[in-house]
Order: sequence, then C-alpha cells, then structure tokens
Amino acid sequence: MAAELLDGRSLATRIEDGLRAEVGTYATLFGRRPRLVVVLVGGMAASASYVKSKAAAATRVGIDSEVVAVPGTATTEELVALVTAIARGDHGAADGILVQLPLPLQVDKTAVLDAVPPDRDVDGFHPENAGLLSQGRPRFIPCTAAGVQRMLIDAGVETAGRRVVIVGRSDIVGRPLALLLSAKPPRAPAPVGASGCDATVTLCHSRSTDLPSLSRQADVLVAAVGRPGLITADMVRPGATVIDVGVNRVDGRLVGDVDFEPVRTIAGRITPVPGGVGPLTVAMLLANTLLAAELRSRQG
Ligand code: NAD
Repeated sequence: MAAELLDGRSLATRIEDGLRAEVGTYATLFGRRPRLVVVLVGGMAASASYVKSKAAAATRVGIDSEVVAVPGTATTEELVALVTAIARGDHGAADGILVQLPLPLQVDKTAVLDAVPPDRDVDGFHPENAGLLSQGRPRFIPCTAAGVQRMLIDAGVETAGRRVVIVGRSDIVGRPLALLLSAKPPRAPAPVGASGCDATVTLCHSRSTDLPSLSRQADVLVAAVGRPGLITADMVRPGATVIDVGVNRVDGRLVGDVDFEPVRTIAGRITPVPGGVGPLTVAMLLANTLLAAELRSRQG
C-alpha cells in the first residue's frame, strides 16, 4: 500500500491562518505591523525565488517586508556594515533580519550571520540562539528544523522513545533538528498528542559508515543532504515515516533526496518534494518574525 502523503502546503496554510489572526492582534495592541528585512546577495535564481516566496507569504499574513538586494561582488565588510545599518534602523524598523543563503564564496558567511542581532535573528543561526536551543530553552529555532517538528506533531507521528535517524548534520537543518527531537518535553503547556521530542536520535553525515543499516532502524527517517536519490527503498524500514528535506534540480524538475516512488511503496508516511517541508520553512519564518516583534515590543 502506498504511504500516506504528508501535505506541507495545507499545513502551512493552516499555520498562516492562525498567524494572520495573531498578527492582527499584535497590530491592534502595538499600532504597527511586524516587519521583516531580507538581504539578497547576487543574482542566483533559486535565492531570488525563495526570497520572493518569503515576501509573498509575509504579505498574506499581514507582516511588512523589504528585500535589500546587493550585487554578488559584495565583500564581507560591506555585508556586515549593511546588516549593522539595517539593525540600526536605516531601512525602517526591522523586527526580523534574514540574510538569504548561500552567500558568494568570497564572503565570510559566519561573520555576516553573526552581525544579525540575536533578538532579530529569525533564521535562528546566531550562536546565542544555537546555544539556547542546545540547552533546551529555544528562542528562534531554525525554520526548517522547526517545520519538520511541527509536521511530525501535526501528523500524529509520536517521537517519544522512538528511533529517529537524520541524514545530514548541517547547522541549519540536521543538527538543530537532532537537538529538537531529542530534547525533553517543555514543562508547560503539557504536550498534547504526538510529542515532537524525547526521541533517540542518530545523526548521520558524509563520514558515517553503512548508512543503510542505520537508516533501516529508523521509525522516522529524515534526509537533509542535497543528493537526489540518496535514500533508496532498501534503506527504509517498512511503515517508517520519511521526511525529505532535500531540494535538488534535476532536468529542470525539483526532486528531494529520497527515491520517491519506490520508497513510497515501503514507507508509512512520506513528504513530497515540492510541497512537503518547503512551505513549512516559510511558515516558521513568519512565526519567528511575529515572535521577534513581540519580544521587541515587550522590551519597550
Ligand atoms: P549542507 O550541504 O550544509 O549539509 C549537507 C549534509 O549532508 C552534511 O552534513 C554532510 O555531511 C551530509 N552528507 C553529504 N553527503 C552525504 C552522504 N553521502 N551520506 C550522508 N550524509 C551526507 O546542506 P543543507 O544546507 O543542510 O541542505 C541539505 C538539503 O536540504 C539541500 O538539498 C537543501 O537545498 C535542502 N534544504 C531544504 C530546505 C527546505 O525548506 N525544504 C531548507 C534548507 C535546506
């Protein structure tokens, strides 16, 4: 029997509906709307398209946004100065500041990301936010990791005591997701339904040996590598939940890291690409931007 499809688009729409109401309440209380400023460096078509969809989603829920586009020849110093100027208010109020990745090779990505003030770091990449997450008291959680957790909870996929195998250890997806899913549950409010935490997590990477024997142990298998067809049907336990984070362009078509059709006949649940994790990444960015605005307004 074919696996149940986990539809990220419809979940993202439901999340946006909730956020629209919350943004409305925020605007009534504080007399302004949350605002997101995005830095787009260079002319990469994929980056421009991601930024466009983030700005469109912000508009749908009532968040203001501005895209600051700079040439791909920008230096580290210029980008750090730009982020600092945005934080100072040179581009209007900026509750959330996001630097679209990847950056050109000549740029020191860490220096630029570290220039984003941690209380406006809606991507959750600043070391202060990474540290808070690793201590189990998250503030801004990297959007894709938060989106995967949300999808598991929404689909009723229990993680407590289960084996989760994550393939890919990047700072933006695999590692924060491993922290989230292995964390203790929050003390309040009491978790209802699937927990999204308390899992036994195995984090695999390019130097892991015998990936198939590890992946076959997974109740929940997450692929976040960027290699089309990496996860084949023989690597999946029958009935497992398979979350495909990968986005790869093959012959002009978007595909994930999972060999979709064969794996679909083995798995219990599976995310499509496109239409799986991607829309949730954007929805979580909107949630982080509202949170950033609320934190700033409460600080006065
Ligand atoms: P990355 O290049 O930073 O990390 C890739 C990881 O894969 C590394 O940890 C590496 O060790 C591991 N890896 C490489 N080859 C491997 C192999 N043969 N076996 C096991 N592990 C291997 O990538 P990233 O930024 O984490 O992105 C991963 C993928 O997810 C990309 O396709 C990216 O486009 C996609 N992505 C999607 C979203 C979304 O919203 N859907 C968001 C972010 C990233």
